[in-house]
Amino acid sequence: MELEKNELSLIIEKVLKEMNERSLKIKNGDGIFDSMDDAIEAADRAQRKLIEMTIEQRERLIRAMRKAILDNAMSIAKLCVEETGMGRVDHKYLKLKLVSEKTPGTEVLKTTAFTGDKGLTLIEMAPYGVIGAITPVTNPPDTIACNSIGMISAGNSVVFSPHPGAVKTSLETVRILNRAIIEAGGPENIITTVGKPSIESTDQMISHPKVRLVVATGGPAIVKKVLSSGKKAIGAGAGNPPVVIDETADIKKAARDVIAGCSFDNNMPCIAEKEAIVVEKVYDELIREMKANGNVYELKDDEIRRVMEVVLTEEPSKGSSGCDIKPREKRYMINKKWVGKDASEILKAIGVHPPKGVECLICTVENDHPFVQEELMMPILPIVKAKNVDEAINLAVLDEHGNRHTAMMHSKNIDNLTKMARVINTTIFVKNAPSYAGIGFGGEGFTTFTIAGPTGEGLTNTATFTRQRRCVMVDSFRII
Ligand code: NAD
Repeated sequence: MELEKNELSLIIEKVLKEMNERSLKIKNGDGIFDSMDDAIEAADRAQRKLIEMTIEQRERLIRAMRKAILDNAMSIAKLCVEETGMGRVDHKYLKLKLVSEKTPGTEVLKTTAFTGDKGLTLIEMAPYGVIGAITPVTNPPDTIACNSIGMISAGNSVVFSPHPGAVKTSLETVRILNRAIIEAGGPENIITTVGKPSIESTDQMISHPKVRLVVATGGPAIVKKVLSSGKKAIGAGAGNPPVVIDETADIKKAARDVIAGCSFDNNMPCIAEKEAIVVEKVYDELIREMKANGNVYELKDDEIRRVMEVVLTEEPSKGSSGCDIKPREKRYMINKKWVGKDASEILKAIGVHPPKGVECLICTVENDHPFVQEELMMPILPIVKAKNVDEAINLAVLDEHGNRHTAMMHSKNIDNLTKMARVINTTIFVKNAPSYAGIGFGGEGFTTFTIAGPTGEGLTNTATFTRQRRCVMVDSFRII
């Protein structure tokens, strides 16, 4: 997971120099418009040109996009951390590399054929046209790059409504992708966006008649909004992924994997371990092994209280964490200023000198603690003790809040693994590995940064962005 420290600082130095030399001036065809209407009209014109191209030519554009993402991964990662103040450059680089290498392309498009006495019927995977995509501040360039590859592979153009807090990074990603597409012989403006995204421009995009499909990657408010839009919508919403460790697990490996997943990009991925529930028999061993990793700091009771004062704010109202089956009482909400911050910054804020190399703060708490119940998106791992595996699984189900997003388990017992997989019912369930194995990082399968739990598409890919069309020829084209 780690780049060598020297290698990383050399790359960053080179990238900074390049960025200073290169002006980020926007040209026609870069896909960046003043008004949402113009962005949608341009994307519509581009899509008409795209579907005139062969699939082979389309795949050439996808190859160029993959290369552009990889070539620019470090500069985008750097820009993103600089702009948002969240996450880690090395991990953001790895996420972009993953998108470039493991996002499916046109190979996913398959035709189904029925032949018989009455002729031939084909079912083809066709584009929607213009797709509107809303992207989060937690993974801005990865979501834009990954959505763009999948949506364009399916023959669509895409209009992005990025989070205003990540506008520079998002525009830069759109610009780089468009230039790569044009250089590879594709039309201008297959990917468009607005220079100043806002709630108003997002609303305009969602309701525009030329936008045939809306895809929202973000928290509960935006998922609810697109699902109420009256048009086809895909919602990739919030998670609060629990990890259960039972007494049969390889504790040394579990300790390493849980910390690696929890601290990845400072815990911002929606799939990252947000709380650990451990069977009490192996609790001491787990904590010992976690601390032996050398990158973990265990918060004492008074430090837990001080961290709470820093990273949480009190909220008196009732709320839901997204797709809750029943709303739950909320007493706290996260202080967004602290999302994606380094563990060392959090320690400094409570007056503790951070040990060298600290990446994750761990603490033992009760299950109703806000660190467990809220989706923190910070490198803080609350750990809850359970009497046995059944209690641990029950607590994990409660903590996941019915989001049906992601969960992990470390166990060697097939019955326990099967039980948790069934009852937690999440879109992603990772066994004996860090959470990121669930999106193809060190695990089999393709990657995505839009995991559509609420609407059921699961890990989105090219096929998700297609509509089925049937073409029927009667009494001909049967050759048997
Ligand atoms: P967010 O919900 O604050 O913002 C997401 C996007 O929606 C942004 O572009 C924002 O500008 C827009 N938005 C939010 N509310 C809106 C409204 N009322 N009207 C119009 N636009 C609105 O989320 P965030 O902080 O950017 O990202 C973190 C959240 O996203 C977490 O809850 C995380 O779990 C979730 N997420 C989910 C996935 C997934 O694949 N399921 C992936 C990444 C992040």
